[in-house]
Amino acid sequence: MGQIVVVGAGQAGSSLVARLRKNGYTGTITLIGEEPVLPYQRPPLSKAYLLGEMELERLYLRPESFYSDNNIDVHLSETAVSIDRADKVVIAGGQQFGYEQLALTTGSVPRHLPPAIGGALRGVHVVRTLADVDAMEPAFRPGARALIVGGGYIGLEAAAVACKRGMNVTLIEMADRILQRVAAPETSDYFRALHSSHGVEIREATGLERLTGSDSVSGAVLSDGTELPVDVVIAGIGISPATELAEAAGLEIDNGIRVDEMGRTSDPSIWAAGDCASFPYRGNRIRLESVPNAIDQAEAVADNIMGAETPYVAKPWFWSDQYDVKLQIAGLNTGYDSVVSRLGEKGASFWFFSGDTLLAVDAMNDPRGYMIGKRLIEAGKTAPKDVLADPDADLKPLLKA
Ligand code: NAP
Repeated sequence: MGQIVVVGAGQAGSSLVARLRKNGYTGTITLIGEEPVLPYQRPPLSKAYLLGEMELERLYLRPESFYSDNNIDVHLSETAVSIDRADKVVIAGGQQFGYEQLALTTGSVPRHLPPAIGGALRGVHVVRTLADVDAMEPAFRPGARALIVGGGYIGLEAAAVACKRGMNVTLIEMADRILQRVAAPETSDYFRALHSSHGVEIREATGLERLTGSDSVSGAVLSDGTELPVDVVIAGIGISPATELAEAAGLEIDNGIRVDEMGRTSDPSIWAAGDCASFPYRGNRIRLESVPNAIDQAEAVADNIMGAETPYVAKPWFWSDQYDVKLQIAGLNTGYDSVVSRLGEKGASFWFFSGDTLLAVDAMNDPRGYMIGKRLIEAGKTAPKDVLADPDADLKPLLKA
């Protein structure tokens, strides 16, 4: 019998405990979460759930019976406040939880607009938790004026929902282009045009000077001096890895909780996975903010806690739904020097190369291109650029090449 404590009841935490039992682990498992609800899917929060097209029950990753049937001791609404590494104890909700192995799946926290520029006014929201989305939902009414700050996935998905709900939407992005952190200029151009065609006003290279209003937000002053009346503000200005607990316990931090290729932190009895963890990847150290990584890395950590000693090899992929467009991204385009555009009648994809090495593909309503690109990238294969550029060429034979 062993004793494993997992701190953080999000996607990674839920995947980790499930995998431990699937692997036949018979010791005690404790899962500690800060939110009052069982682990749920976050992606629909800024899409179907905010649109009112998905019920709460469907958000849960696993039903309550899963945890009781598998003898997983779940503690909700409890914040882990400290780790005593010498005695191997976690303190949460006034209780002590002893561990033999501890996994940190603490996720990330959204950046907030500073109170000094009006970030604490009523009507200013972030999109991270179920409670966040439930709080903003009443403001999503036809005719309301929404200011979205940040042109990443959160901002663009919230803009699409607000637009579908009949709101007047302005989105500002401080960087030169939307999606700058996660996608290439071709993809930004595609989504700028998509949003504009739905009536969203996108202003790039524009920051927020301040929000105005006495109690609730009623206006905004932008960095170019423009003044806008607003009823609701959504800040999608990025996240920070939740490292506070690990840092206070003296674990090494390096753009997240630093783990080795097994998922082990600088303390051999403590592991980390998901948004909060930075790990080795192709000679660099990265942190991936994505659901697929949270699942895969958490499962790898569960295996390694049980002695598998199998290095985690990330296979980055991402997706987003906006209006009737599904964006799917495979690979990371960091360091690309050329792009091949494949422009079909129904969909489009952009293929990123460094020399002749295929690094990544961004596919819009092109699931086949995405699937083939993903398999090529994961197999370390490349593809002739002229074939990719021809929307009528069959890509499947490339997999056998
Ligand atoms: P994000 O991808 O980091 O994008 C935030 C954007 O806001 C950046 O482009 C940033 O520009 C900009 N920004 C920051 N401060 C600003 C300001 N004061 N005024 C205007 N623009 C500002 O983060 P996010 O969209 O907030 O998403 C949060 C997390 O959830 C991310 O990890 C994201 O990947 C994840 N998420 C993923 C999906 C998906 O995969 N479909 C959907 C929703 C959320 P700079 O880079 O120049 O600071």
